[in-house]
Amino acid sequence: MEIKLHNTLGNQKEEFKSIKSKAVHMYNCGPTVYSFAHIGNMRAYVFADILRKTLKYFGYEVKQVINITDVGHLTDESDTGNDKIEEVAKKEKKTVTEIARFYEKAYLEDLKDLNINTQNTIFPRATEHITEQIEIIKILEEKGFAYQTTDGVYFNTSKFKDYGKLGNINIKEQKEGSRIEKNSEKRNPADFALWKFSPGAGSGQSSRLQEWESPWGVGFPGWHIECSAMSQKYLGQPFDIHTGGIDHIPVHHNNEIAQSECAFGVPLANFWLHNEFLTIEGEKMSKSLKNTYTISDLKQRKIHPLSFRFLLLSGHYGSPMNFTWDSVLGSQKALEKLVFEFDNLSDGEIDKETINQFKEFIADDLNTPKVLALLHETFSSKKSQKTVLEMDKVLGLNIAKLAKETKENIPEHILELKKERDSAREQKNWQKSDELRKEIEREGYVLEDKEKESIIKKTLAGIV
Ligand code: AMP
Ligand code: ZN
Repeated sequence: MEIKLHNTLGNQKEEFKSIKSKAVHMYNCGPTVYSFAHIGNMRAYVFADILRKTLKYFGYEVKQVINITDVGHLTDESDTGNDKIEEVAKKEKKTVTEIARFYEKAYLEDLKDLNINTQNTIFPRATEHITEQIEIIKILEEKGFAYQTTDGVYFNTSKFKDYGKLGNINIKEQKEGSRIEKNSEKRNPADFALWKFSPGAGSGQSSRLQEWESPWGVGFPGWHIECSAMSQKYLGQPFDIHTGGIDHIPVHHNNEIAQSECAFGVPLANFWLHNEFLTIEGEKMSKSLKNTYTISDLKQRKIHPLSFRFLLLSGHYGSPMNFTWDSVLGSQKALEKLVFEFDNLSDGEIDKETINQFKEFIADDLNTPKVLALLHETFSSKKSQKTVLEMDKVLGLNIAKLAKETKENIPEHILELKKERDSAREQKNWQKSDELRKEIEREGYVLEDKEKESIIKKTLAGIV
């Protein structure tokens, strides 16, 4: 079946064709590990996971790289300001490595909570690929795309005629001082750092915690070059798919393209896919706006991470989604209903018609909202468990596992209450039976009444 994906490069839905038959090389811009990832960031990784699972479902072997940024991402997104990780390390009196590894681990745990399987994913760290980054800068310099200033080595965007082609960014309209800072030594406002010199380097008083020797002087790489270097190393160039959030289109991804294409003379990636923002009250969720929540905030409020995954899938990745506690609670209830219902479905064969529809929807630029509607219908028309599990290969909601967990490890005192209620019910003592049901529910459990006995299950809140 033909898979169609919206390619930001060209701004249209296109039939996906891989470079090598039945294999896909994919790069997802990863986290800067200076704080806990927020759930807006996690939208980018759930989206990449759905994409990976879809490609796998259609028979592709997927080689996936998610980079870990542990150097060079500066506080004001351009080429000035402090290194985000160094700033936290200094504040917390820890080493950069301690900070970076701590948040990297937390990030990997968040992925696991969201059922993002990372067994075969490569997570290269920027600090472990300094040589590769220097190599590309050397090539750019040799080919005349780079120049040196007093504070670093810069990419000359005027030398790349396609600069800004991703998302059709109009460089001339971007005012100096907005996204692009004033730097009198830069030849063009959009030029960006490939290598920055450590402030105070050479005087023996460098303020940097991490710095490396380079042909140009002691310093550290610019933020964008790591993605060019690590994607080329692990995936080759061109590779098939590059993803990220839409905020990366104007600067980061256009800069990656400029560096890689000028260095190696071939496209960086054939397909560029971008997820829209998770917003709060209409504004982008972001650390700078202080409107973020993390996966552990969700868990603290008894929201299962997979309920959040369900919420994300209820919208198309290319549309903004506004986060509210009500919406995620609604998703939790909807998922829970399916999980509770799962055991009541037959163990018959896969319903082919449903699965054909499922394939059609998911192959159409990952239309997860339509797939979720189909999933609800699959339950209401009592199709088989196997049909549900087939769709769950891509949705990754872990419905069978959740269904099992809702019945496991019910504490003794709850089982006692259930027994009491079963006998009240048998004696037709409806008032007592009702009171006991309420008590059980207050503790985070639900009862499903069968003819004689009842079945007790934990709610999703109870298994967070
Ligand atoms: P960062 O660590 O800032 O580089 O972000 C990691 C990923 O999350 C990138 O792909 C961003 O584009 C993406 N991202 C950041 N904020 C949001 C948001 N509010 N909604 C969706 N994606 C986001
Ligand atoms: Zn990147």
